[in-house]
Amino acid sequence: MNSCPICGKPASPDYRPFCSRRCADVDLGRWLTEGYRIPAENEDEAEDAPADDPAPKAH
Ligand SMILES: [Zn+2]
Repeated sequence: MNSCPICGKPASPDYRPFCSRRCADVDLGRWLTEGYRIPAENEDEAEDAPADDPAPKAH
């Protein structure tokens, strides 16, 4: 049972994982306008790792 990641309603088989074409368009719009916030996530990860940590980071 999937729910729409945009609005939380039950997903439609025609538009899954979204509930409707409108929500699918909203998700696509995020990709086009925001780059889906991938750069922001990378910044958070960099903040998590201290520069003077001698142990190599195994991701
Ligand atoms: Zn939806």
